[in-house]
Amino acid sequence: MPDRRHFLASGLALAAGRSLAQLSPRAAGRVLIVGGGWGGLAAASRLRRNAPELDVTLVEREPVFRSLPLSNAWLVGRAPEVIAPAQHAAIAAQVGYRHLRAEATAIDRAQRRLHTAQGVLDYDWLILAPGIRYDYAPWLGDDARAIEAVRRDFPAGYVAGELDALKRKLVDFKGGVLLMTVPPGPSRCPPAPYERAVMIAWWLKSRRIPGRLILVDAGGGMQRFNRVFAERYQDQIQHLTHATVKALDPYAKSLQTEFDEIRFDDAIIIPPQAAPDILRQAGLLETDAAGGPGHWAAFDPLRLHAIGDERVFIVGDLLGRASPLFGAYPKSAHMAARLGRIAADGIAAQAHGVSPAPTFPESVCFVHTDVEPAEALRIEASYRQRGDGLITQSVRQREEPQPRGEDAEWARALFAEMLAS
Ligand SMILES: Cc1cc2nc3c(=O)[nH]c(=O)nc-3n(C[C@H](O)[C@H](O)[C@H](O)COP(=O)(O)OP(=O)(O)OC[C@H]3O[C@@H](n4cnc5c(N)ncnc54)[C@H](O)[C@@H]3O)c2cc1C
Repeated sequence: MPDRRHFLASGLALAAGRSLAQLSPRAAGRVLIVGGGWGGLAAASRLRRNAPELDVTLVEREPVFRSLPLSNAWLVGRAPEVIAPAQHAAIAAQVGYRHLRAEATAIDRAQRRLHTAQGVLDYDWLILAPGIRYDYAPWLGDDARAIEAVRRDFPAGYVAGELDALKRKLVDFKGGVLLMTVPPGPSRCPPAPYERAVMIAWWLKSRRIPGRLILVDAGGGMQRFNRVFAERYQDQIQHLTHATVKALDPYAKSLQTEFDEIRFDDAIIIPPQAAPDILRQAGLLETDAAGGPGHWAAFDPLRLHAIGDERVFIVGDLLGRASPLFGAYPKSAHMAARLGRIAADGIAAQAHGVSPAPTFPESVCFVHTDVEPAEALRIEASYRQRGDGLITQSVRQREEPQPRGEDAEWARALFAEMLAS
């Protein structure tokens, strides 16, 4: 249950069915942010700094913020949690905005109203940063019971709330076949499954656990990791590439591809992903080839507002295509935080009656490619606009043969930015 005192103290009241907005104080404008991950938190802190006259409320269903970046090393006990789990209420109090612990359920764009499980809120500007949803349908159809069983028994660890269950799973694994899927893209942080595979393989090898990780990969893998798997973990990892999941039976613990039927003792099922359902409800998805709603959010790639609606901004992993030249922005925490800033600056500019200066996001990502000795890759992406208006991407990948905690430094610095006001 949400903390009732928190809402009362912050001027919001728990009154399902009533308009919460009527109870909040008047301000130069109201901004609602849905989702307190990397994108939403960055937007909130940036608004506080650049538009302190605006009333900002972050609507987040979880009580605690937890980092997915660096979670793979933490899973196998190789690192402490670099960013300690932080209460949203405490972050909000420190930075100076409201936190409403609630699930956002629908958006009425004509009336500029957000419906939540705790009531209705009016907005002048809305930032949508709810991350991703799991899309089990391609593997399990609409079998709600099987979807629930997979989610419960074989969590992906692609949303922060599942990390403890995943860690317990690894600690309890005493041998046999552990299966992990790598879904077809686009997906959150594409190198993450390979980094996790290396961590698990190292865990099995160093603890002499008589087990094998079978990686059922919709794609061809990443060159650097494919080499590490083959050269250093051939006894621990079996990598099945270009493998399409045809059927998954969570009760019999079996998975079928076009070529193999794999029986497993335990599994980490990372499913295909898509933008959360609220985007579909609000008519904010791209159009697919058949003219229906697609899987990811449609948006203006420079300003980040919804197409045809400059009161709604969309940031983070749920975004669809940014440019025909490279597709989507990388689904990384760094990118989500930079996009959150840009959306906040766009709102501040509108509130101040000026045009926002065009800014481009960037992404930096560290990926561990082995454990002992430690090796890492630093992947950087930057953007600019071409003469014809299209956004171009340039990606640089650098090997870090002797990483010295650069990833932890990066994560702490990014998080500190989100706590600044
Ligand atoms: C294993 C793993 C490792 C990773 N490693 C890295 C890394 O090293 N570097 C890197 O840059 N990125 C990494 N990433 C990617 C990074 O975690 C994501 O890109 C980032 O979390 C995206 O931020 P976001 O704000 O879009 O979404 P999220 O961080 O997922 O935040 C979305 C928030 O919205 C909330 N929410 C959703 N729907 C609702 C609703 N209807 N109502 C209220 N609240 C809602 C959720 O509870 C959540 O808190 C990794 C990801 C994984 C899975």
